[in-house]
Amino acid sequence: MPQLDQNEVHFFEELREAGVLEDVNGNCLDTSKGVILVTCADGSHFGDIFKRQSEMTPLIHTLALNGGGLILPHRSPANMPIGMSPTGGMICLGDIYMSQISVAQELKGISVVALHVHFPCGIARLHNIGSRHLMELLVAAKTRIKAETSEGTKVAACLHIAWPDGRKRTYFVSRDKWTEYLQATGSQS
Ligand SMILES: [Zn+2]
Repeated sequence: MPQLDQNEVHFFEELREAGVLEDVNGNCLDTSKGVILVTCADGSHFGDIFKRQSEMTPLIHTLALNGGGLILPHRSPANMPIGMSPTGGMICLGDIYMSQISVAQELKGISVVALHVHFPCGIARLHNIGSRHLMELLVAAKTRIKAETSEGTKVAACLHIAWPDGRKRTYFVSRDKWTEYLQATGSQS
């Protein structure tokens, strides 16, 4: 199983110090009516992701595909084209995932989406998505869900990290703190 290299460890530790990656306690939305869990299906990590989520909500409606939130952004390399629509447009994996999220919202009446990516992730490795790109895609996935689902949808963006020392942790990702971090480090999002 791939491990985080030293640069990746340093990057995520920096994000912890900058407050971009927060402990999930106390940062959650109201999940008392349940969440739609968008997550990678990776069986090595899904159990930990689900367990942590289940400590915060009584109902989890899981939509797990390889890569989880990495599939959603229009420009993600993991958002693969899978066919043509009757009108001639391209249908991508992310379109199907978005449709599934909307259907789940209608079926269960759940307004909160727990949007997860994790690292290291096999799909990220497959598409050469590095740690910074992964963060950008997570934020872009959140933006897409907010834009293409019903008004009132809340999205909690989360990152699960399997640290090289064996610890597994789920962090809440602050979009505002990420933007501040990019400005402070002179990076472009
Ligand atoms: Zn994965």
